[in-house]
Amino acid sequence: MFRINQERCSQCGECQEICPCGAIEQQADDSFMIDVEACADCAACQSVCPFEAIDEISNDENEAQ
Ligand code: SF4
Ligand code: SF4
Repeated sequence: MFRINQERCSQCGECQEICPCGAIEQQADDSFMIDVEACADCAACQSVCPFEAIDEISNDENEAQ
């Protein structure tokens, strides 16, 4: 499970372009969010992000949000 760290993200859009599942969407406020329902956990977005803004998180962490 992956999550975008909004403090590090520059909103470059590279993760959205590489995502094979269309799971990354730009929001009305220009931030990028990963739709965990659509995400296949392939990690392509994490490897392409130039700012190391995508963190892998555990399910437990996600449920705590
Ligand atoms: S891990 Fe893969 S499927 Fe999930 S958002 Fe990143 S690129 Fe898309
Ligand atoms: S590739 Fe990284 S910096 Fe660019 S929009 Fe995605 S999370 Fe943000």
